[in-house]
Amino acid sequence: MRLENRVVFITGGGRGIGREIALSVAREGADVAVNDIEAAWAAAVAKEIEAMGRRSLAVPGDVTNKAEVERMVQQVVEHFGRIDIFFNNAGIIQATPFLDLSEEEWDRTMAVNAKGVFLCGQAVARQMIKQGKGKIINTSSIASRIGNAYMSAYNASKAAVSSLTKSMALALAPHGITVNALAPGIISTTMWDFLDSRLAQFQNLPPGEPRKRRVQQVPLGREGTPADVARVAVFLASDDADYINGQTINICGGTVMS
Ligand code: NAP
Repeated sequence: MRLENRVVFITGGGRGIGREIALSVAREGADVAVNDIEAAWAAAVAKEIEAMGRRSLAVPGDVTNKAEVERMVQQVVEHFGRIDIFFNNAGIIQATPFLDLSEEEWDRTMAVNAKGVFLCGQAVARQMIKQGKGKIINTSSIASRIGNAYMSAYNASKAAVSSLTKSMALALAPHGITVNALAPGIISTTMWDFLDSRLAQFQNLPPGEPRKRRVQQVPLGREGTPADVARVAVFLASDDADYINGQTINICGGTVMS
C-alpha cells in the first residue's frame, strides 16, 4: 500500500490509461476524484473505486474551461480536504495530413492537450502550495520527442506538455511540489483504434496495418497496455519518487531512447 490515505485527482479518468491509473492508485490505498468530460464514465470509475473500499468522487467537466476547472478543484478539496497527487491525463488525438490540418483541429488539440494541462496544473498547484507539498504528473507522449506528418498538432501539443513540465517543476519546487510527465508509446486504448483507422485512410492501407507497422518499430515487439503506464504512474506518485523532478519518462518498450 504505497499510497495509503493519499488523495488523488485525475483528469480523463473515465477510460483508457486514466481509468487504469485511477484503479491502480486506489489499489495502493488512495482515495480518488475522477474527472472526465463524459460524466457517465467518470461516475462508473468512481463506483468501481468505492467497491474497492476507497472513497471516490466523480467530477465531470471540461479541462479546457477555466471556470469549470476551478469549480472541479474546489469540489475535490471540499470533499476530501486536500489534493496530494494530481494526474493531468486528459488528452485527445488528432490525425490529419499537415497540409489539410484545419485551424479548428489545431485549436482543439492544443486546447485539451496543452491549455488543459496548464489550467488544471495551475489550479491544483495553488491548492498544493497551501498544503506545502504535492506531486503533479502530466501525460506527455513519445510524440513530444519526434515529428509526424499526420499528427503535427498532437506532437506539438505533447512537446508543450514536456516543456511545461520543466517550467512547472522549477516554479513549484520551492513549495515542496514535484512535477513530472509520463511519455507513453503505443498503448492499447480506443485512442489507437481511432488513429489506426485515420492513418489507414490517409496511407491507403488496410485497417490494422498502420498499427501493425508501428508495433514492428517497438524493440520489445508488443503494444503497451494501460497497466504498463499505470505502474510507472504509481511509482511517480509514491514516496519512492521524491527526488525525481521535471522529468519526462518514456514508457514505450524502447521505441524512443531519450
Ligand atoms: P482515451 O481512452 O481517449 O482517454 C482519454 C479520456 O480523456 C477520455 O475519456 C476522454 O473523453 C477524456 N477527455 C478528452 N477531452 C477531455 C476534456 N476536455 N476534459 C476532460 N476529459 C477529456 O485515451 P488514452 O489513450 O487513455 O489517453 C490518455 C492520455 O495518454 C492522453 O493524454 C493521451 O494523449 C496520452 N497518450 C496515449 C497514448 C496511446 O497510445 N493510447 C500514447 C501516448 C500518450 P472523450 O473520449 O469523450 O474525448
